[in-house]
Formats: sequence, structure tokens, C-alpha cells
Amino acid sequence: MVSRVIPVDPFDLVIFGGTGDLARRKILPGLYRRYWAGQLPDDSRIVGASRREMTDDEFRQFVREAIEEFAIEGKDDAPKIDGFLKLLSYNAVDATGDQGWKELADKMREDVVRAYYFSVGPSLFGHLAEHLHKYKIAGNHARIVVEKPFGHDLKSAKDLNATLRKYFAEEQIYRIDHYLGKETVQNLMAVRFGNVLFEPLWNALYVDHIQITVAETVGVGGRGTYYDKSGAMRDMVQNHMMQLLCLIAMEPPHHFEPDAVRDEKLKVIRALDPVGPQDIVRGQYSGAEGIDSYFTDVEDERSTTESFIAMKLHISNWRWKGTPIYVRTGKRLKTRASEIAVVFKHPPHSIFGENPNDRRGNVLVIRLQPNEGMNLRVTIKEPGPGGMRLIEVPLDMSFAEALGPEAADIPDAYERLIMDVIRGNQTLFMRGDEAEAAWAWADPIIESWEKAGDRPKLYDPGSAGPEEALMLLYREGRRWRDIRE
Ligand code: NAP
Repeated sequence: MVSRVIPVDPFDLVIFGGTGDLARRKILPGLYRRYWAGQLPDDSRIVGASRREMTDDEFRQFVREAIEEFAIEGKDDAPKIDGFLKLLSYNAVDATGDQGWKELADKMREDVVRAYYFSVGPSLFGHLAEHLHKYKIAGNHARIVVEKPFGHDLKSAKDLNATLRKYFAEEQIYRIDHYLGKETVQNLMAVRFGNVLFEPLWNALYVDHIQITVAETVGVGGRGTYYDKSGAMRDMVQNHMMQLLCLIAMEPPHHFEPDAVRDEKLKVIRALDPVGPQDIVRGQYSGAEGIDSYFTDVEDERSTTESFIAMKLHISNWRWKGTPIYVRTGKRLKTRASEIAVVFKHPPHSIFGENPNDRRGNVLVIRLQPNEGMNLRVTIKEPGPGGMRLIEVPLDMSFAEALGPEAADIPDAYERLIMDVIRGNQTLFMRGDEAEAAWAWADPIIESWEKAGDRPKLYDPGSAGPEEALMLLYREGRRWRDIRE
């Protein structure tokens, strides 16, 4: 298999917050990887922009170290690294004041794609948009990339949308959700809409339920203060998991183009039923020998913020009425794994007798991490003598194995999404109305907790979450997949 790397047009990309953690770990090493793969033209330019004073050479050294630490492939390719560093420069710019803007404006070229990546705290997004407008360096063809979190609730998301739209058209705004840039997430659409095999079964008649899991082994660590204001619902469910849910549940768009896809996703969010307290379990990890509890990590013993959440959701439309969708996410769990499992119903009648063990459902698992790939569990006859006994076997496809050395060329989520920004393709970015609809669904749920003042259930570090989360499925004769399966 030969992978095709199609170079993008030359561009000027300004990374506000170019000296921050996200730029250092993801954006800059990702851009280097695209350069290394031959996708960035040599006359492209990448400008780091933050408050602190720094020379171009100091910024290049900062990026060299970031590449050495975080780029996966190509980090030993000295000539390529030197070539990439030549694209870089640095400007000290204050998002809230006028310092540095004139110099930045003078640097931007007219005849290339201009993109501005807002990799700064959300309180600065509006200031950046305003200054880009004031110094006339945005222009009609410029794009802005806005990092998460996109608002804290419906009101703040609406305010942010209104501020950005004062200066930019919706077609210029790229709200990034890096989950959408993952190879498997896009493959989900390819599998659903590129085959006839699955789509006829993809509905409440044949699907018993769906599970979406994003499990982490780490705690909140150094992000405690930020995380405690957010919690699993705001940090994971309202954005990343909602996006996964949309892709799994949406109707086929008439075409794979931005608004067609985003229209269908929006319909899913709007069809979500409100979720009552009986269908939600919130948890907080406790401590253990050598492991700090959530309270210790956030330095607040009275915190009622959840580090784990499990929920049962319903989509009220023709396709999904009656099929529950269970989502769970949490920190300090036993495994680091993200997956979507579509659990099909049992065959309506067993011709092999009534042994309940022989009545199994097919399960399609889409693994986001680790080892991106897919797995379809099918029932076959146990080989050998002994009659017609059934067993389950996985039809397993790991991208790394299926693609061999070509897998090294698969861009990671940030790389792919930044290239989409340069190409002007918004398909994998959230539209403003999607972000607002997701908050409109999440807000009443969060408000009801705040009103009730409920404390989350404690769970052991290294466990699968609170017992009550297991009961959410047990009480209906189902069980969570063991995420190591
Ligand atoms: P960070 O490490 O705190 O970096 C913030 C950056 O903003 C620094 O480069 C800082 O530069 C710059 N900055 C601060 N005030 C400024 C101002 N007034 N004008 C210009 N630049 C200013 O934050 P981060 O972790 O990179 O996160 C950046 C954004 O990405 C946030 O919205 C965050 O929620 C989001 N995000 C981060 C991650 C992650 O893994 N880190 C993941 C997902 C989303 P100076 O120090 O020079 O001021």
C-alpha cells in the first residue's frame, strides 16, 4: 500500500500561546511531522506568539526540544528538523493590549492562506478576535482555530459565539475537538457509510445498546484547579463523547461535506432526551497507598466535582427509539482505553437448542486507543468433535498491523486537523450551533446536581468506577464491556 501525502498550499500560521503546553506537546511537533512527511511547502511560515519576549532563535530552540521530546517519527532526522525550523519565527504579542500587534500585522503575507490558532486560555479568545480585526490582519479568507473549552455553559458558549461572529464568519471559525481528528473516528464513518453490511442493521431493531467508554489511568494531577471547576461532564461528555455519539448515531449525510455532516450531528444532539438522576452515576476517586485521592489532588475536601461519570442516554427518533446508549468516562481507572461498542441483539431464535450460552450477540468495537482498530465479535462452531457447541471469536483489525510501515504516516489528530484548517475543510470541526445544542442538553443536568448538592460516590483507584455504575447496566440485564477484552 502506498500512502499519498498531498502537500497543502503555502500558509502563514500564527500560534497564539506558541510557548504553552499544548503548542509544545502537540501542535508544533505535529506540524514538524507533517513537514517531515512532505506535506508543508517550504515557503510556509509558522509564527509563535505569546506575551513573553523571545528571539526567533530562542523560539526555534524551544521547538527543537519539543520535537525531540514529543515527535514520534522523524525526531532523529537532523536535516529535516533544520529545514522545519527555518519556517519558524516568533513575535511577542499581548492578547489583551496593543503590544506587538503592529509588528505581527506587518509580517503577514497577502497571497497565502492565513490561519490563527488560539492556543491560549478561553478568556483570551475574544481579545484575540478583536485585535485581529482591529489590526486588519484577518481578512475574509483568514481562519481562526479555537481550542476547547468552548464555553462553560450555554450562556458562555452563546456569548463566545457572538463575540467571534462579530469579527469572523462561521466559515472562518474552526472549533477544534481533537477526538474528531482520530483515524478511527473517521473510519467509523467509512465503515458505516462505505459498506452495505452495517447500515441496514444500524438501528433499534437490531442494536441492543451502545457503549461509549473513555477511561484514563491518570488522576487530575497538576490540572486539579482547572479540572475541579469543570468535572468529567464538562471536560469529556459534553464535547468529546457527544461528538462520538453523534457520529455513531447520525443519519447518512447526503454528501461528505461540512454542513451536510454537521446538520446530521446537530439533529442527534437535539433528539437527546433529558437525563434523570436515576440514569446518572457520578464518582470521585479515593486514595490508596502512594496514590493521592481526588480531594488531595484538587486541594479541596468539600469538592463535589466528579472525576467519573456513567450515564444512560436515549435518542428519541425513528432510528434509535428504545436503544439505550451508555457512556462512561473517568480518571484513575484500571485501564487507559477509549472505545465504542455497538452490541447487537441476539438472533431471534436459536436453532441449536436453548443453551443460553449459545445465544450471543455480535459486537462491533471501534477502538480509539490504544492500538486503534476495529473488532467484530462473531459466533462460530467450536472446532472439533463434541457436537454443535458455539463460541465467540473476534475478527480483529489493528490499523498498525493492517497498514504495516505505512501506519507511521498516519497523522495524529492534531496534525490532521491543522492540515484541514489550511485546506479550508470544516467537516471535522464543531459548528457554533452544535456547541450550543450540546450545552443546552448538558446545562439542566449539571444544574440539577448543583441544586441537589449531591456528593459523587467514591471509587477505588485502579477500579472500573463506583459499584453503582455497574448497576446502571446490571439492573437491565446488561453489563459493561471489560475494557481489556
Ligand atoms: P498554557 O501552557 O498555560 O499556555 C498558555 C499560553 O498562552 C502561553 O504560551 C502563554 O504565553 C500564552 N498567553 C497567556 N496570556 C497571554 C496573553 N495575554 N497574550 C498572549 N499570550 C498569552 O496553556 P495550554 O495548556 O497550552 O492550553 C492552551 C489552550 O488549549 C487552553 O484553552 C486549553 O484549555 C486548551 N487545551 C490544552 C490542552 C493541553 O493538553 N495542554 C488540551 C486541550 C485543550 P506567556 O507565558 O508568554 O504569557
